[in-house]
Amino acid sequence: MIRIARTLSTWATRWVNSGRCGLHLSRCVLCLARAGRTGLCEPCLQDLPANHTACERCALPLTAPNPQRLCSACLLRSPAQDFCLTPWRYEFPIDQMIRRYKYDGWRAPGRALALNWADQVTGTLPEIPQALIPAPIAPERLPERGFSQTAEIADWISRETGTPLETGLLQRHPGYQPQAGLDRGKRRRNLQGAFYVTTRTGMPEHVAIVEDVITTGASGDAMAACLREAGIRRVDLWALARTP
Ligand SMILES: [Zn+2]
Ligand SMILES: [Zn+2]
Repeated sequence: MIRIARTLSTWATRWVNSGRCGLHLSRCVLCLARAGRTGLCEPCLQDLPANHTACERCALPLTAPNPQRLCSACLLRSPAQDFCLTPWRYEFPIDQMIRRYKYDGWRAPGRALALNWADQVTGTLPEIPQALIPAPIAPERLPERGFSQTAEIADWISRETGTPLETGLLQRHPGYQPQAGLDRGKRRRNLQGAFYVTTRTGMPEHVAIVEDVITTGASGDAMAACLREAGIRRVDLWALARTP
């Protein structure tokens, strides 16, 4: 009996997760309870590891809030972005949700996080950017992954917030080794010259780069520096989650 129940539950989960049943937006991606259009039920949403007290420049969780609202690394050397916003820490179950989305191509958890991201931050931003720029992923990664997770996340957030998407402006040169496994200093050196802008005319004044996860902050810093150097006055960095 237990085996039958387990088989049925596995089958139901796969069916719902496949998206073929059309329920992926009305059932919670974590527990399959009724969830509304954002794909996460209220209890699961409340259980996500919130990143409430964080550095305003790099979103690193702060153990003790300070008047400047900056972490010690940003007090020593300010990154190029003006403001960083990630509502969650990259911990369970966010890490699993993002991995399933990014490496298995299961869209529902990525979409659920993006929709809830927009739901949570709409109305709380100090200044609304004029455009959302997806963090460009390494060109050699695209064929293997089949999609750009940052372009999709930026598109979902753009549709929710009404902020236009600007996909062609910021690009990444091929041939840079993957950042995974490198420390903060090596990541920064590895990224020198990795990004470029395709035009310098008609630039928006204020943009937000959209990332999936901020790990050390080196990529965000390099992208923001590239955009600032091209004449953009204010660059924000938005991501789903921040590695503590
Ligand atoms: Zn749930
Ligand atoms: Zn910081």
